[in-house]
Amino acid sequence: MAEHESLEYGKADFVLLDNVSMEEFMTNLKLRFEKGRIYTYIGEVVVSVNPYRAMNIYGRDIVEQYKGRELYERPPHLFAIADAAYKAMKRRNKDTCIVISGESGAGKTEASKYIMQYIAAITNPNQRAEVERVKNMLLKSNCVLEAFGNAKTNRNDNSSRFGKYMDINFDFKGDPIGGHISNYLLEKVKANYRRLLRGAPDSLLRSLHIKKDPTAYNYIKVGGQIKVSSINDGADFKAVADAMKVIGFTGDEIQTVYKILATILHLGNLTFGVDGDVTLIENTKLVSVIRELLSTKEENVEKALLYRTVATGRDVIEKQHTAQEASYGRDALAKAMYERLFCWIVGRINDIIEVKNYDARVHGKNTVIGVLDIYGFEIFQNNSFEQFCINYCNEKLQQLFIQLVLKQEQEEYQREGIPWKHIDYFNNQIIVDLVEQQHKGIFSVLDEACMNVGKVTDEVFLQGLNGKLAKHAHYTSRKLSPTDKSLEFDRDFRIRHYAGDVVYSVVGFIDKNKDTLFQDFKRLLYNSSNPVLKAMWPEGKLSITEVTKRPLTAATLFKNSMILLVENLACKEPYYVRCIKPNDVKSPLLFEQERCRHQVEYLGLLENVRVRRAGFAYRQTYPRFLQRYKMISEFTWPNHDLPSDKDAVKRLMQGCGFDHDVAYGKTKVFIRTPRTLFSLEEQRASLI
Ligand code: ADP
Ligand code: MG
Repeated sequence: MAEHESLEYGKADFVLLDNVSMEEFMTNLKLRFEKGRIYTYIGEVVVSVNPYRAMNIYGRDIVEQYKGRELYERPPHLFAIADAAYKAMKRRNKDTCIVISGESGAGKTEASKYIMQYIAAITNPNQRAEVERVKNMLLKSNCVLEAFGNAKTNRNDNSSRFGKYMDINFDFKGDPIGGHISNYLLEKVKANYRRLLRGAPDSLLRSLHIKKDPTAYNYIKVGGQIKVSSINDGADFKAVADAMKVIGFTGDEIQTVYKILATILHLGNLTFGVDGDVTLIENTKLVSVIRELLSTKEENVEKALLYRTVATGRDVIEKQHTAQEASYGRDALAKAMYERLFCWIVGRINDIIEVKNYDARVHGKNTVIGVLDIYGFEIFQNNSFEQFCINYCNEKLQQLFIQLVLKQEQEEYQREGIPWKHIDYFNNQIIVDLVEQQHKGIFSVLDEACMNVGKVTDEVFLQGLNGKLAKHAHYTSRKLSPTDKSLEFDRDFRIRHYAGDVVYSVVGFIDKNKDTLFQDFKRLLYNSSNPVLKAMWPEGKLSITEVTKRPLTAATLFKNSMILLVENLACKEPYYVRCIKPNDVKSPLLFEQERCRHQVEYLGLLENVRVRRAGFAYRQTYPRFLQRYKMISEFTWPNHDLPSDKDAVKRLMQGCGFDHDVAYGKTKVFIRTPRTLFSLEEQRASLI
């Protein structure tokens, strides 16, 4: 059936392409999209193209078709990957993970939801109440995180502005018993505060002093378009509020969340002026609103906004901000409050969903399926610090992919006594080093530039890069390559990533990396008489003279979190979903060739195909192989009289003319190309 499908709907597996070329890849991808086949394999990797329409392929009936089946037995689907990950965990006691990547709007979050939904559907056959409770929590926590982590961007109405990794823990029966969430780099600027309050009841809005008219708020106007038609705000607000309650947030906690969101909106409307040499807040009424929401004193709010405490030697002085500095501080405060709120929500959810009362000595090891929903390679017109971090993350994931696939293959070939054939691929470790290496890497150069006492500018950072990286094959700038007019002299540098070249502008790198919030603000929030708010800002306890350590920079924090993430993934058996966005207008009909080609490039899909093709597409133990295919050959049906199952499989394969495509290991048969497997399946199907 798979082969039948591949004729009419293109090839179900890119490994089957006659030639691994961009052209053939694109032809197949387009054909399948147009035929409504949004999923295609590269071996065990699923390539998904966002259909931008409701597909009738996620129902209970489809779940049943994939449950417990092997990958190649059914047309490509997310459910097949979810099932493979689940089976590996349940049958072989392996921790597994599913890595979902792609650009904004490509369908990552939807895919992660379908995967969760599939796992929820196939577990807990006995309807144990505790397991149902855990499942409900896991699904609800997703809803809350999305509400706070997503924002409307021009690329996606519901774009996740953070990477999310979720571990789901299973007991020995294979039922979910808990989970843990990690989040990476929330893009603070883009979060849409107001949406979270839109649809709130009037009484709540009144108590927060929030007007219904969204144009009243500067922080909202900045985002451009205000209303997102596809999102039902009223229903959203209620769903999120209910979800928070179900998960176990207290009334005080939920109220504090609203107060923080409202504070952020009010902050955005604060303006500063000068009178002689005094900086002042122009709309003082707002200060009293903010004071009320933050449960603190009006003079404290004013002071934190207008002054900065600095330690000079043994003296502590209060230095007045200029109006410009005050505005900068105000925005930094708003962003930091939102980020802290988000991290606090993740932390609270983790407290609640963590595995409790599971004794491994009694019940056996608890196993894990991790789901990573993370932005793929990003290349915009103007690429900055965020794109740099995201693309570094993708280099790390590519490195992991290479290591895991090759390592797994190599080990298995050795075990089975099959000669190892060298696989030719590009090893991107050199680019990972370029970014993260101690002292010489780009992150180190950036941190050094930020520590300069004298002039700290983005240009100084670029000079540092040029000095240290002039000889690096994957780095260039206008200074190093003067004729290259695509680069601006004191602004741009270019990295040759594994997936293509990206030009980054250094503008803003220093600021974004330092990411400083004045200690005065931290102290303001810590001194709140609202215990929930206070608990979010423990470092506000310190006075200026006690703050000795420089806070870690954004780059260092991100690098550390990536290293942890990769360590965590490296000990799991990985499955991959690569998402592609077919057009920029959310059309179900349009397949923009160029747009898609770029993504295929940036996702490294051709490289994927090459790595997969170099090894064996399929392997199975002899008895299980016979169990499935013995009806194909007269020598094996209904039983064989050969000395071993291995001999029987050899006989069967010779009979079919597949011998050249097969290697016989100690316990398993290895089939090089999926085409052979599809033929076997087809022959089997014609006989039963
Ligand atoms: P990402 O997380 O990659 O930014 P999303 O998963 O939020 O992207 O998808 C963006 C939008 O595309 C969704 O809101 C939905 O309208 C549509 N979409 C994505 N995947 C599917 C799918 N499998 N079926 C139908 N629509 C989809
Ligand atoms: Mg998303």
